[in-house]
Amino acid sequence: MAAVNNPKKCCYCAGCPIVCPKQAIEMVESRIVIDKEKCISCGNCVRVCPVGAMSLEK
Ligand code: SF4
Ligand code: SF4
Repeated sequence: MAAVNNPKKCCYCAGCPIVCPKQAIEMVESRIVIDKEKCISCGNCVRVCPVGAMSLEK
């Protein structure tokens, strides 16, 4: 499992990279890039996102 970003919902508030304990989320050229190898599926990014743009995929 790993976090996935929905770019149609994301408003690029930059909140999720701050709460990721593994530094698995980066904003690159106004896109959210998630390193699935680093992600431990803690759900922090899902909880912090104000627009529901993060989810955990199976
Ligand atoms: S689920 Fe946790 S480890 Fe994975 S990207 Fe989100 S905050 Fe980072
Ligand atoms: S917290 Fe949500 S809206 Fe903000 S950058 Fe992350 S995915 Fe996008």
